[in-house]
Amino acid sequence: MNVPFVDLNAQYQSIKSEVDQAIFDCLEKSHFVGGQLVLDFENAFAKYIGTKHCVGCANGTDALEIALNALGIGSGDEVIVPACSWISTAEVVTSSGAEVVFADILPNKYTIDPEDIRRKVSGKTKAIIPVHFFGRPAEMKEILDIARDFNLKVIEDCAQAHGASYLGQKVGTFGDIATFSFYPGKNLGAYGDAGAIVTNSDELVEVVRMIGNHGQKGKHNHLRIGRNSRLDTVQAAVLGVKLKQLDNWTKKRIQNARFYNQLLSTDLVKTPLIEEDVRSVFHLYVVRVSDREKVRNYLREKGIQTAIHYPEPLPFVKAYQYLGLSAKEFPVSNEYKSQILSLPMYPELTKEQIGYVCESLLEKMR
Ligand SMILES: *Cc1c(COP(=O)(O)O)cnc(C)c1O
Repeated sequence: MNVPFVDLNAQYQSIKSEVDQAIFDCLEKSHFVGGQLVLDFENAFAKYIGTKHCVGCANGTDALEIALNALGIGSGDEVIVPACSWISTAEVVTSSGAEVVFADILPNKYTIDPEDIRRKVSGKTKAIIPVHFFGRPAEMKEILDIARDFNLKVIEDCAQAHGASYLGQKVGTFGDIATFSFYPGKNLGAYGDAGAIVTNSDELVEVVRMIGNHGQKGKHNHLRIGRNSRLDTVQAAVLGVKLKQLDNWTKKRIQNARFYNQLLSTDLVKTPLIEEDVRSVFHLYVVRVSDREKVRNYLREKGIQTAIHYPEPLPFVKAYQYLGLSAKEFPVSNEYKSQILSLPMYPELTKEQIGYVCESLLEKMR
């Protein structure tokens, strides 16, 4: 049996007629940037998340950088981000001219450790970027408490967590502003790069819209320096079709995670937490094992693709070595980096495939 790590084609086949039609309509109208389809998707996504506003942009990295710009964060400021994330979360802080300050992650939850945030707040700290990592909401109550205590902005990085909820409320609605990626492999993925920013603030949304469209308010009225970061109309059309399926797909991801956890309930494999009040949408299904490379190679021989998210905690990647941070400062991130293993996870995964992955994994562990 072959079990690919993701199977984007299986998903395409399941919505082919509707998505093909949406793309053809777009081509016929020949409106390729902006327009009604983009506004329709922005409105539908804001409604889905439960925020007042949504602004589409070119990708999830731009979304983060535009959010930082809109909040006026840059040179001389510090921003606290988790030591474990995709590099964008830290990269945008650096590219906006601010200093990135890393906090460790929580054992078994993988999201930013609020206690470590508290330790790392300084007089220069302006914001926190919690990441709802692997699809699991960060500890938002504690994070909002810290933000209130020190008057910090909160930018939620929701790139891996479309539709995840914390105490019954969707992520993206807790902070001052939140960002999403619609990279094809994300839980809600376009057919190319795409992203969005959501907020409840009438002031922020206006600035966000201007920044992504050359600082314009109306045509040729450039009120500030901005950039070009817009959501393509074709991508908006695809996302509009896919958004209607998202809850259904999320339900299947959670079912798959439950089935994995059930089959892997042994001390040899550390499986992810599944909780009702901190509801993960399982963008990734990450376990921890010893002898990971041996396990990975064995699974590969059995036709099962796995991945590592991510091989190095951000403080240790080459680009951030100039900060001179030591592994001792990030004990959890450092311990987990050699153990984490992402198993195949997508809505179209079958019970037979999950059974085969677990059987093969346990064969190697025993
Ligand atoms: C994917 C991702 C991003 C960046 O999104 P792109 O659309 O690829 O630019 C940012 N943060 C996290 C946590 C991500 O997983």
